[in-house]
Amino acid sequence: MSIEQNIKDIQKIKGDTAVKSGRKPEDVLLVGVTKTRSIDEINEAIDCGITDIGENKVQEVMDKYEHIKPVKWHFIGHLQTNKVKYIIDKIDLIHSVDSKKLVDEIEKRASKIDRKIDILIQVNAAMEESKFGISENETKDMIQYILENCPHICIKGLMCIAPFEENPEEVAVFFRTVKKQYDEFSEIKHNNLDFKYLSMGMSNDFEVAILEGSNLVRVGTAIFGARNYNK
Ligand SMILES: *Cc1c(COP(=O)(O)O)cnc(C)c1O
Repeated sequence: MSIEQNIKDIQKIKGDTAVKSGRKPEDVLLVGVTKTRSIDEINEAIDCGITDIGENKVQEVMDKYEHIKPVKWHFIGHLQTNKVKYIIDKIDLIHSVDSKKLVDEIEKRASKIDRKIDILIQVNAAMEESKFGISENETKDMIQYILENCPHICIKGLMCIAPFEENPEEVAVFFRTVKKQYDEFSEIKHNNLDFKYLSMGMSNDFEVAILEGSNLVRVGTAIFGARNYNK
């Protein structure tokens, strides 16, 4: 097993699955999830064609940022309001927006550096099962709130994490529900809403996610092997 071979294998499966779902291989973006990985591992993945990486901790972004080759940065973890200021100028897409408090802080920091920040709203179509992500009605409210109050935020789509891992059919139903929301919200016409990304699917479930309409998959373990959090 090598990072290079893993990336080749995943690109192949990703591309074949995209075609199976009526799209082109390049219509689905592979984001390499690099949490807990070393600078060397990450740069190796970039050398093997990874164009986008995802981190879930502010501290890790800060520690790694200046050592990583040119790449697009995605923030995919729960983002605490008081830490937005550290990453606002480093991240290309924040996937995990799930509260108005966080939205207000992103707007404030983005306005300070005079930039428009691209975000996804993290939704949860199975409310009981997961700590983060908001319901469909809350998402509707949140979109309206952002469009009315946040000139420095552009809503690029939705992100979700499937709560069930054992039952592929339940996972498919979950993804299908989120895709339906995505299609509905993408009809909204506004300068600061430009739905491009439906971020769903990880190592275990990215094929199902693509079949259900995902166009951005976040894959860590299948590229780098199992994570060791105690390093
Ligand atoms: C860790 C993580 C991933 C990647 O998970 P793997 O199972 O290692 O592919 C994807 N999305 C989020 C939000 C994560 O935290």
